[in-house]
Amino acid sequence: MMKCMNHIESIDSKSTLYVGRVADLLDGVLPKGRVIAIADVNIDRLYPDLVHRYEHIVIGSGEAIKSLHTVEMIYDRLRAMGADRSTFLLGIGGGIVTDITGFVAATYMRGVEFGFISTSLLGQVDASIGGKNGVNVADYKNMVGTFAQPRFVISDVDFLRTLPLRELRAGMAEVVKVAIVGDAELFTFIEESISEECYHDTDIMRRIVLDSARVKADIVDRDECEKGVRRVLNLGHTIGHAIEKCSRKHNHGEAVAIGLSQIAHLSHRLGVLSADDMKRIDSLLQKIGFDLELSVPMSNILKEMRYDKKKSNNVLRVVLPERIGSCRIVEMPLSELEKYFIV
Ligand code: NAD
Repeated sequence: MMKCMNHIESIDSKSTLYVGRVADLLDGVLPKGRVIAIADVNIDRLYPDLVHRYEHIVIGSGEAIKSLHTVEMIYDRLRAMGADRSTFLLGIGGGIVTDITGFVAATYMRGVEFGFISTSLLGQVDASIGGKNGVNVADYKNMVGTFAQPRFVISDVDFLRTLPLRELRAGMAEVVKVAIVGDAELFTFIEESISEECYHDTDIMRRIVLDSARVKADIVDRDECEKGVRRVLNLGHTIGHAIEKCSRKHNHGEAVAIGLSQIAHLSHRLGVLSADDMKRIDSLLQKIGFDLELSVPMSNILKEMRYDKKKSNNVLRVVLPERIGSCRIVEMPLSELEKYFIV
């Protein structure tokens, strides 16, 4: 069960999430033995004192490096450094570093212990939590991976001061998603506090990170391996992933924001979501700075969705918001979905 003490969350007994300062927390949570850090080039450049405190491996940045090639390079480096099963891996970075570090740790010598310092907003509210890790294969996102829980995650919002605005917004798309899925109060809080300045307000960002993490951790506690309720976290993502693939213009968060808006409109057309809540979702996404206009024809997006991995027998599992703070999962034949989208 999840415990909540000040800025500390536990994701069952295996993993603990701390929302607080690295300087106050890290020494207390790292094991006594050998630690090897894994970071990307940007984190290495911006935070050398932290990365270089440990033996370290630096990888490139960008979605293209989330590959088996990078994983193999890290295995080689670990072997050359003489890392064994007692070595602890510390991933320092955004979702790409934590996804790769988790996968390497789960597989190197059949598994070593690991923990994360999560440095991007998307990482702090989503990617570092829940134990899913993995890499892309060819064009397929997260095709290969495991479920393995880090011993700890430290989310320190001070890192967000160096994160570019576009990346902050990308993280906010996931915050809005979890608020729609399970926290109406968080949704209202964001409506009242969002502005470009708020990203540098420690109290606001701690609340946003802590509340989002609590929603995700609570859902993961109930369904670690995504057999049921965890699927609600895919809200807006089936469309979002299709948009990402059809248009190179959007990053993940921007595509998810459009996906959230589209699915809210679908839910309203189906008579599930009220017009008021649909408008609140669009207004908040626009206030954050997202352009919700579709930049590719819906027919192309639907074509891409036909290949989505969450589909079987031409039936899609669709997560529909029923009100802010609550969603339901319905199965819909693709043909019916097309009818509602192509109006
Ligand atoms: P990312 O790791 O690429 O980070 C975004 C960019 O910001 C990178 O250039 C990075 O170097 C930089 N960066 C990170 N922290 C910084 C800081 N404090 N200051 C300055 N720059 C910083 O991407 P992301 O958005 O953090 O994560 C996206 C990845 O997460 C995707 O690959 C996605 O598939 C994955 N993801 C995984 C899960 C999961 O459950 N495992 C969930 C959601 C997303």
